[in-house]
Amino acid sequence: MTHVPQGPGERTKRKIGWHFLQLPGPTNIPARIRNAMDRPAIDQRSKQFARLALKLFGGLQKVFKTKKEIFIYPSSGTGAGEAALANSLSVGDKILMFDSGWFSFLWIKMAKQFGLDVDVMETDWRHAPDPQAIGERLADDKDRAIKAVFVVHNETSNGVTARIPEIRRAMDDADHPALYIVDTISSLACMDFRMDEWGIDIAVGGSQKGLMLPPGLGFNAVSEKARRAAETANLPKCYWDWEWQRECEGTGFFPYTPAINLFYGLEESLKMLLEEEGLDNVFARHARHGEATRRAVNAWGLETVCQEPREYSDSITAVMVPEGQSADDLRAVVLERFNMALGGGLQRLANKAFRIGHMGDMNDLMLTATLTGVEMGMAAAQIPHEPGGIVAAERYLALGD
Ligand code: PLP
Repeated sequence: MTHVPQGPGERTKRKIGWHFLQLPGPTNIPARIRNAMDRPAIDQRSKQFARLALKLFGGLQKVFKTKKEIFIYPSSGTGAGEAALANSLSVGDKILMFDSGWFSFLWIKMAKQFGLDVDVMETDWRHAPDPQAIGERLADDKDRAIKAVFVVHNETSNGVTARIPEIRRAMDDADHPALYIVDTISSLACMDFRMDEWGIDIAVGGSQKGLMLPPGLGFNAVSEKARRAAETANLPKCYWDWEWQRECEGTGFFPYTPAINLFYGLEESLKMLLEEEGLDNVFARHARHGEATRRAVNAWGLETVCQEPREYSDSITAVMVPEGQSADDLRAVVLERFNMALGGGLQRLANKAFRIGHMGDMNDLMLTATLTGVEMGMAAAQIPHEPGGIVAAERYLALGD
């Protein structure tokens, strides 16, 4: 690498300015939320706590757009996914899943570990599962052996968003009774998700992305149909058992110690999202940032991993580096020189792609600074690209064209 003047924070102990955490989760935690959590714990069996918890269940229903019951676990998103499977299915049940990205792949691994009979449909990791192909697979399932269809709404590893309502329509057209389970971990509070309207049976969520919280809360939103399935489902569970939680239903209490301080943070997050910004504005902001990012990528002459415009993610953009270049070297340079963390390519995209998170608490200047860091990083790492990415993004953000 040619000699370049030293940047702030480079080769010094002290990093100057703030760290840009531009991962697709965990995301930036606003000071308001951090401050809200900086409180003493309270008795989780007090009326004060119960009032808080009941308020949060109501707020989460608005975020999931559901009137159905919600369970909150002290867990990461993976735990909430385990809860979804363990409560609704039995050993040997057939489940339709999609090898369409790293997180989708991990759910397949989990289902196999549970002894489920996993029917895997593959994509090239640059497209989402195809609703029509899903419909055909379900129509072929004459004896209705498939008990559940499990889809990741927003595949965080490649920035590809599945067409959830279209998949629902395909299931309905095939007149198939399978449960519809959706991972909303990196779509919730970033892009529209409508649990009830879209006929979702179990929605799986987590706290560390659109909700702007630390990791540590996992969510299940559960339809009556899933609730009925749980009555006979025999996969082993205890900590994750909806029944355990249900014993406290409507009381605001939990069968084991809830993550009290994260609840304070969630209260603040819901206030910001629902009362102050409004979900529609939250979605529009993410969509706008997704578009601005893609304009920059396009002007750089690079490709997004996602190849289907209808499936572009609003909350994360994964970018292919040119053949023969190292995405990991680029990320290392960006971290070292500009104090910014970008997401890496996972598994088959390892070192071939990097990921720009534009989810959670982000404004236009945070996005343009992020894109500037990428562009400067590409120059510093000598990754061939065209100039003009920042101008394209800024123009779109300022003028909308
Ligand atoms: N599913 C998706 C789409 C994700 O983005 C993630 C994490 O990034 C997970 C599942 C796993 O969630 P967690 O890391 O919170 O356990």
